[in-house]
Amino acid sequence: MHKDDQALIFELSTPGRIGYSLPEMDVPETDINELIPAGYLREEEAELPEVAELDIMRHYTALSNRNHGVDSGFYPLGSCTMKYNPKINENVARFPGFAHVHPLQDESSVQGAMELMYDLQEHLIEITGMDQVTLQPAAGAHGEWTALMMVRAFHEANGDLKRTKVIVPDSAHGTNPASATVAGFETITVKSDDNGLVDLDDLRRVVGEDTAALMLTNPNTLGLFEEHILEMAEIVHGAGGKLYYDGANLNAVMSKARPGDMGFDLVHLNLHKTFTGPHGGGGPGSGPVGVKADLIPFLPKPVLVKQDDKYVFDYDRPQAIGRVKPYYGNFGINVRAYTYIRTMGPDGLKAVTEYAVLNANYMMRRLQDAYDLPFDRHCKHEFVLSGRRQKKLGVRTLDIAKRLLDFGYHPPTIYFPLNVEECIMIEPTETESKETLDAFCDAMLQIAKEAEENPEIVQEAPHNTVIGRLDETLAARKPVLRYQKQ
Ligand SMILES: *Cc1c(COP(=O)(O)O)cnc(C)c1O
Repeated sequence: MHKDDQALIFELSTPGRIGYSLPEMDVPETDINELIPAGYLREEEAELPEVAELDIMRHYTALSNRNHGVDSGFYPLGSCTMKYNPKINENVARFPGFAHVHPLQDESSVQGAMELMYDLQEHLIEITGMDQVTLQPAAGAHGEWTALMMVRAFHEANGDLKRTKVIVPDSAHGTNPASATVAGFETITVKSDDNGLVDLDDLRRVVGEDTAALMLTNPNTLGLFEEHILEMAEIVHGAGGKLYYDGANLNAVMSKARPGDMGFDLVHLNLHKTFTGPHGGGGPGSGPVGVKADLIPFLPKPVLVKQDDKYVFDYDRPQAIGRVKPYYGNFGINVRAYTYIRTMGPDGLKAVTEYAVLNANYMMRRLQDAYDLPFDRHCKHEFVLSGRRQKKLGVRTLDIAKRLLDFGYHPPTIYFPLNVEECIMIEPTETESKETLDAFCDAMLQIAKEAEENPEIVQEAPHNTVIGRLDETLAARKPVLRYQKQ
């Protein structure tokens, strides 16, 4: 399968080579057969590669250079905010006072760490316009679920037991309906109108006494700001429902508009997106949830509070939904987000939003003649194109994504949102230079030209990568294939 001469670690193996050194044994040797029942013991020796330390080092360094990350190249994956994560965040997260604390330590011995968490909460309250924030949820979807569990507890506390439905627009992030379902609600979908915004008539039609909440991804996954939020708030609140804001991509509105001021009752943020926690590859995230005052009693416990000059965890919360994560959230990611907020300052955070939106609009306008632009209006931090014109030439959006690999780019999100045919969803983020944006646009324009003049080159892409097209279903279902000795 591999085109170049990079050997597998097993192919590098030479019997007797070792990559470790252990001290001489100073305890009596034990017979493994006495320790482990025979049924559990392997019958043959494990097939492990035998390689010297330096060769292992070179092998994995070479492999790591083939990986695509934000630090190695442009990564315009829509709805993922793959932006640069400043390295100062890493330095601060590694301060021994942060890195070496144990969650079971006595509160009096970790006041500094608790102060950081408290200050971060205060900053997020200010940024979102909410009344209180919990840092417990471990990621965005977890924050959504946490928020919906609070909505459920709120309605139940009011004896309002018929509110079983959560309304989700068809342009929402895919995790929204999933979280609603996991939280035990029935999901009701509302349509988008021709402008890509929530259809208010359709919303009025579905809202009623059984509405628990509306979940709004804003900007929606088409990259468009929902222009009728105040009307939506009136409709949903008028029926007794709660309003939830999916703020994973806050870098589209941060320091310009606040969910709390728009009438939202709950919001989640993705600190591993907007606030530069590294992500991708399933690393730890942080999905804090902010709430308005009437939902504070339901926050997961413990709640971090300040009493006189001390920070304490308040466990005396009879209406709390419980804990949603062991201990107090992913502290290391919260340290990074705090460092980011403090180094950027209020003006810096505002500039983030302005550049994120400017960059997306700039690219959208450069590409609008070569690709179809389904919604020709100002976008926020991301935008969608359609490859339907190229599809008529026999070049699918998947082919365009594969061809981008030849130019050294991680492809954008494709075939999502579902309501756009041959969708290409591009999120440049604010950290990229104009030169980088231009180079990517040039590649996209060249691919559009190739689709017309020489479609095979796109259909057969990638040509310059280490391996060609994978069987993606097999790769997802069986990521590790057992090495077969030749
Ligand atoms: C990324 C994202 C989520 C989910 O966040 P995770 O941390 O991946 O669970 C939810 N909503 C939107 C709009 C997102 O972009």
